[in-house]
Amino acid sequence: MPKCVQCGCQWVVKNGHIHNGRQRYLCPACQRQFVLNPTHKTIDPQTKETIDKLLREKISLRGIVRVCAVSLSWLLNYVNQKYNSTPKEVNVKKTQRLTVECDEM
Ligand SMILES: [Zn+2]
Repeated sequence: MPKCVQCGCQWVVKNGHIHNGRQRYLCPACQRQFVLNPTHKTIDPQTKETIDKLLREKISLRGIVRVCAVSLSWLLNYVNQKYNSTPKEVNVKKTQRLTVECDEM
């Protein structure tokens, strides 16, 4: 059995499942409910902000992985998502500018 993520108690009990079928545990000592999720670690917003800054400074992905203690696969996925969302924003701006130019003519 895992240990409580909050107080380290060893006597956690199974407490049903969450929506994606993962086992949920309940700590009898501090009543904390938690799901063990080692492969999909949540990256907090502060870390993402730091990663954004490092990306703008053109720090290598492997460097970011070492500094921010994230996995390379997570970082690649994160960067891809960023690149995928950027062109859409550019397209919107272009369209708006074209409309303005047409109006002026
Ligand atoms: Zn606990």
